[in-house]
Amino acid sequence: MGFYEFRRQLEYKCELYGSELIIVDRWFPSSKTCSRCGNIKESLSLSERVFNCEHCGFSCDRDLNASLNLAQAVSLLRNANANDRDSLRTG
Ligand SMILES: [Zn+2]
Repeated sequence: MGFYEFRRQLEYKCELYGSELIIVDRWFPSSKTCSRCGNIKESLSLSERVFNCEHCGFSCDRDLNASLNLAQAVSLLRNANANDRDSLRTG
């Protein structure tokens, strides 16, 4: 699955669930965060098209790395929301 298709599906899913992706996008340093170990780079210039993590050695396309981070953040949000619903239901 190419990046464009991945992004399109992500946006499609977000339309189903609301605007979580946009909310995440605003505060999450997705481009600077390693999608494997979570290490956040201090700086990442726009000319760096490949993300290289100096912490764990992970290396991949920066857009792919960013979208992996967003996908993880969205699923974390969704799990958190699900937990809220569960605690409302049980509490
Ligand atoms: Zn890493």
